[in-house]
Amino acid sequence: MSDAPLTTEALLRIAAASFESDTPRLDAELLLADATGWSRTSFRAWPERVPDTAQRARFQAQVEERRRGRPIAHILGEQGFWSLSLVVNDATLIPRPDTECLVEAALALALPAQAHVLDLGTGTGAIALALASERPSWQIMACDCVPAAVELARLNASKLGLPIDVVTSHWFAGLSGQRFDLIVSNPPYIARADTHLFQGDVRYEPETALVAGADGLDDLRHLILHGSDRLVANGWLLVEHGHDQGEAVRDLFKACAYADIATGQDYGDRDRYTLGRKPSNTTAANPNRRDPHAG
Ligand code: GLN
Repeated sequence: MSDAPLTTEALLRIAAASFESDTPRLDAELLLADATGWSRTSFRAWPERVPDTAQRARFQAQVEERRRGRPIAHILGEQGFWSLSLVVNDATLIPRPDTECLVEAALALALPAQAHVLDLGTGTGAIALALASERPSWQIMACDCVPAAVELARLNASKLGLPIDVVTSHWFAGLSGQRFDLIVSNPPYIARADTHLFQGDVRYEPETALVAGADGLDDLRHLILHGSDRLVANGWLLVEHGHDQGEAVRDLFKACAYADIATGQDYGDRDRYTLGRKPSNTTAANPNRRDPHAG
């Protein structure tokens, strides 16, 4: 870029054209809003406004980072999720808009007013905090096996003033015998050899938050198999998964005798989450245990 004074619109156009991103204009607007302190809507209202030298220098430094591929969320240090702004860093997955569809599905369930809810592998705390913001009477626990993620989720909870209980645990391993009305999780679900791991933001995210074995289902298998022991009768397990894993995940729920199994779609209308209910008569959940009512 030359040193001639450039308007916000010119700066946005030049920056956006230089990004390899699915959302180049949005990326440029988010960076310019951060560098100038001006709102994104003001760029449309006053496209001729000219940032001062310091604002422009800050913007150009951020544009350079984005050009090198660094995620916008890491450059800004925050990411919007649901109605919340979350602090993010490279210890966790960057919250995705599609995960908001799980939050909606959780809110649509008929749960007790004081429901005990667990978010497994909470990362930034996104799901747990979105639920806490909508259902103040729920008792929400969140866990992560990465200490830096636990710290980050606690930081977000305290910044937002939302009372969730964040603990360090690898899935269920570090939790007491408590049972939940709802267990929700966005676990790693990408297959180890998936080429999409070498593209875009995921290159900057921890592999532990993304990759789950050869078929991407290792962690989902674990959660579905052991989730049932951690649910109250009629409690729900709700998990995010890849757009092409709906059938495989429903099969896992069926094999573990969950009821009311259903898959829901994300904003792009792709399969994104599956849920199932632990039946009140759980004898069927263990194929080795005989059903006393069976003839
Ligand atoms: N949805 C993310 C992606 O495909 C992956 C999230 C995850 O593995 N939980 O980029």
